[in-house]
Amino acid sequence: MKYFTGIDIGSTAIKITIINENKELIGHRISASGSMFYKYAHQTLDDLIKELNISKDDIAYTVATGYGRKLFKEADENISEITANAIGAVAAAKEFGEIKTIINIGGQDSKAISLDDMGNVVNFAMNDRCAAGTGKFLDACAMNLEIGVEELGDRHFNSKGTPLSINSTCAVFAESEIIGLLGNNHSVEDIVCGVHYSIAKRIIKLVKRVGIKEGIYFDGGPALNSGLVNAIENELGKKIFIPAYPQVTTSYGAAILGVDSYYYQNRA
Ligand code: ADP
Repeated sequence: MKYFTGIDIGSTAIKITIINENKELIGHRISASGSMFYKYAHQTLDDLIKELNISKDDIAYTVATGYGRKLFKEADENISEITANAIGAVAAAKEFGEIKTIINIGGQDSKAISLDDMGNVVNFAMNDRCAAGTGKFLDACAMNLEIGVEELGDRHFNSKGTPLSINSTCAVFAESEIIGLLGNNHSVEDIVCGVHYSIAKRIIKLVKRVGIKEGIYFDGGPALNSGLVNAIENELGKKIFIPAYPQVTTSYGAAILGVDSYYYQNRA
């Protein structure tokens, strides 16, 4: 059996996915990018190979993507995260049906991608200038509230009443606004809910730049946050699809492209 690896070196996390020649997901691993992307990417790959009990020699093709993709020189190919995200999303959403709009929130950027009927990218918009509306913003809010990011979802659903509004459009000012709200005895739950709605509003503005088409899919680490999902759905007034492993779909897409490239290069 041949295996194919997709390595997504993101600003915040390294995601590695291994699939087989039938494009079935065999395993994945996530680790922090840290300051030494290259070293951690190798370490993560070695750990995943060990966990799956396969040999490095069984890996026929590796595709790197993400912010740090060019640093992973051993890859057979590297592709943009927009392309990898679209390929991975279409495959991950098979049971959901056709997807036309992808929302991706990463550690330091957010994107909206519009697809045609064939799953090709027709347009995209990106925010990589400002931390508001990214994972970094959620990380900073959680830190100020002294909770973990993985707790944000449950806290959101325990909020009572109308969500607080977080008016600052800059992440730095929003942090002081949050501290002010805590000082005024607002609950952590109400603040978390307000933060999610403020991000949701920003994301919807981004999505509007490419056009909101039915078949909306959301991935990236923050898609693990059910509270944020809820806020985006409520603001959009539409249901959105979250894949089983939202943080690894871009690396999954890179691995899928690897299968196609490998068989194309080795055709008879
Ligand atoms: P990148 O590709 O830019 O490195 P990711 O898609 O890996 O970014 O997303 C990283 C972000 O995901 C983190 O900044 C964090 O806010 C969020 N995140 C990661 N794990 C969780 C979790 N279990 N629950 C909620 N949010 C999470």
